[in-house]
Amino acid sequence: MLDIKITKNTAPKAKPADESKLGFGKIFSDHMFLMDYTDGQGWHDPRIVPYAPFPMDPATVVFHYAQELFEGMKAYRSVDNTIQLFRPECNAQRMQDSSDRMCIPQVPVDDFVQAVKALVELEKDWVPHSDGTSLYIRPFVFATDVGLGVHASKHYTFCIICAPSGAYYAEGINPVRIYVEDEYIRAAPGLTGFTKCGGNYAASIKAGELAEQKGFAQVLWLDGVEKKYVEEVGSMNIMFKIDGKVYTAACTGTVLPGVTRRSCIELLRDWGYEVVEGPLAIDDVMKAGHEGKLEEVFGTGTAAVVSPVKELDWKGDKVFINDGKIGPLTQKLYDTMTGMQWGKVPDTKGWIVPVCKG
Ligand SMILES: *Cc1c(COP(=O)(O)O)cnc(C)c1O
Repeated sequence: MLDIKITKNTAPKAKPADESKLGFGKIFSDHMFLMDYTDGQGWHDPRIVPYAPFPMDPATVVFHYAQELFEGMKAYRSVDNTIQLFRPECNAQRMQDSSDRMCIPQVPVDDFVQAVKALVELEKDWVPHSDGTSLYIRPFVFATDVGLGVHASKHYTFCIICAPSGAYYAEGINPVRIYVEDEYIRAAPGLTGFTKCGGNYAASIKAGELAEQKGFAQVLWLDGVEKKYVEEVGSMNIMFKIDGKVYTAACTGTVLPGVTRRSCIELLRDWGYEVVEGPLAIDDVMKAGHEGKLEEVFGTGTAAVVSPVKELDWKGDKVFINDGKIGPLTQKLYDTMTGMQWGKVPDTKGWIVPVCKG
């Protein structure tokens, strides 16, 4: 158990008056969680303090060599006004798994969850009330040694901030167009594809920008070796329903193991669907599309839960999915997951972790 010292903000900000204008990650709550790591001493000084900028030396390791990781999760205000989390221990575990690859000391799973809960409880009035809104939670850990030598840092900071965020589908669920990326890659075996490190994002921005200029919402990444097998989209995992079966890339090091991905797979199997976690060639996806067997395609991630895809473009070839509408299975996953998160349907899986009364 962490002994978290709380210093309250004596000048709290006004809560956003119009929840329809929240957007994503633009407004931050009154407090943040901090904990420091010193080699030889371990993690120490867990504390919640007023949200504020960090004074940092320009030679701090993270600015130069990007030794850092982040997580993304949400707190929901349920219909009976409980503030609750969705599988927070999965995020804690994933940060541990990522930490090892980045030579970052692990934050114990229980400490991570305790810190998130303590901050969310203090910030409960920042969890918005309107349908579909949530308090986005961003834990992150970064190297704080000062100096330009390339080595694993001996000092780190673990921080958690919160951003009240608007409904992802404020204008209804709109299926998106996806560009299958055939030049750039996101990950390759032995690299950091399975970690939520900022460097993965830095390397992926260009492809995303180019796709956006061409009118696509995101890129679909192919494997980094043969550029043949589908891996994931932008910041989401992706699933394909072909001829009754659901396919998604296996988590073998190049794909981010999404909590939403894992939860959707569990639900699909509960419902009797066969889910294949393994290589799926883009050729076979396009072929299925042309033969009318590509029934549904959807991204999965914490932000959107599911994001239906209506079109895939690969080297000039196009396939269109389900007449541009969200498919019935995608809709069922969306309704079940969001139903549990906002307390509208019973949590039959033990995924919901209540924090406090709202
Ligand atoms: C965070 C993320 C996902 C989705 O993970 P969730 O835990 O479901 O939010 C998928 N792909 C990438 C690259 C990500 O960063």
